[in-house]
Amino acid sequence: MSARIVYKGGLLLDRSGVRRGDLAVDGGSIVAAGGEVAPRPGDIVVNASGGLVIPALVDAHTHLRVPGGEEAETLETGTMAAAMGGYAAVLAMPNTSPPLDNPARVAQMLAGAARLPVRVLSSGTITKERAGAELSPLAALAKAGVRLVTDDGSGVQDANLMRRALQYGAELGLVVAEHCEVESLFGAGVMNEGALSAGLGLRGIPAVAEEVMVARDIELARAIRGRLHLLHLSTGRSAELVARAKADGVPVTAEVTPHHLFLTEELLSGYDSVYKVNPPLRSGDDRRRLWEQLSQGVFDVIGTDHAPHPRWRKEATLDDAAFGMLGLQHALAAVYTGALGAIEEGLVPQGLPDAVSASIAAAVGSQAEAERLGWLWRIVAMMSWQPAQLLGLDENFVGRLEAGARANVVFFDTSAEWTPTSNSILSKAGNSPYLGVGLKGRVVDVVVEGRRLVGSGELIYEGNWE
Ligand SMILES: [Zn+2]
Repeated sequence: MSARIVYKGGLLLDRSGVRRGDLAVDGGSIVAAGGEVAPRPGDIVVNASGGLVIPALVDAHTHLRVPGGEEAETLETGTMAAAMGGYAAVLAMPNTSPPLDNPARVAQMLAGAARLPVRVLSSGTITKERAGAELSPLAALAKAGVRLVTDDGSGVQDANLMRRALQYGAELGLVVAEHCEVESLFGAGVMNEGALSAGLGLRGIPAVAEEVMVARDIELARAIRGRLHLLHLSTGRSAELVARAKADGVPVTAEVTPHHLFLTEELLSGYDSVYKVNPPLRSGDDRRRLWEQLSQGVFDVIGTDHAPHPRWRKEATLDDAAFGMLGLQHALAAVYTGALGAIEEGLVPQGLPDAVSASIAAAVGSQAEAERLGWLWRIVAMMSWQPAQLLGLDENFVGRLEAGARANVVFFDTSAEWTPTSNSILSKAGNSPYLGVGLKGRVVDVVVEGRRLVGSGELIYEGNWE
């Protein structure tokens, strides 16, 4: 029998709000949440007084690179990085080699991940071979348990194909997720187009390459009532288009990434290809506008777009290097650090449920502390139960810390200040933009479906990662 785990002296933050109290996990389930839990001999006691106990995270945008990209990442290394980041479940993106465009390929990938302690879900492609010409067998994918389809890595260029995908998606209960990029506008760009790219002599990717497809797809979803999800939106205008569409009642959800919330194009000034990512890091003005829309509740999901690459694909000139950066391990800390910046700029989260605001007011004294917790609530919602809902995950992922629930629990130490180093990276790849960067807040303890995977900030699970 495994030891009981007791989180002492922290704040519990879940879907219902924030409250002071201890939390105990025993035999795979939460056995107490709130109030005081007296430790017993043999218990593992985690001092949670520096931060928050939260429901484990769910990533709706992970490139696990299996099959075909095992030089960059494997199911084992990808899920280890996920566990270290506080993730209990990840959605594998289908732009693999070959792509996950039919049930047999999906089943094969999932079989490889079945015994891992982190839950792996599969997406499927919108089009066969992700070639943008013919729809994948969407009904068969849906029957095989796929809930979200995407050609991520490319946008669906043909508007009529996207229209039909939304039509079938609506019938089949599929979320159709778009990587918004008009290829003819994107060209051969390597970074955000603007004064900085011109000054650096680098080819730019204009914001409209994204925004035109955002606008097109919103209009398609409005006409068809299909279930549209927009991936990794990076510009202020994209976010504002979503806000307008939602106000109109268009069935659209939207994702933003930790790196677009935390990093900006200035990082490209040193010509370091670790910062080459698609969509590109944008201007400080775009970043501010993303936070503005986030404060209004416009985004539904923060997805990592974790994109591992082997060394040789990144250690190249900006023109030749691959797009993409690691995300899973440092996502929550990066977003929290970014949120502290947004607070300094005077942004306040709007439109929290009344019960949540009331619980925060009851749990803490000062207005400033209440605003910080309001931000944390919205962030955790976007990284835990909201992506779980998008992906149709079961009742173990509904974001409630209460006795009887399956234990998917993270201790996030908001008092920690730290700087990630390359030897702490668990991904097989090393292309993290957060190495050497000061971060605030750290995932230090992680329980996934009752198993303690991370303790004191280290991967401690000794069971099977294969
Ligand atoms: Zn993408």
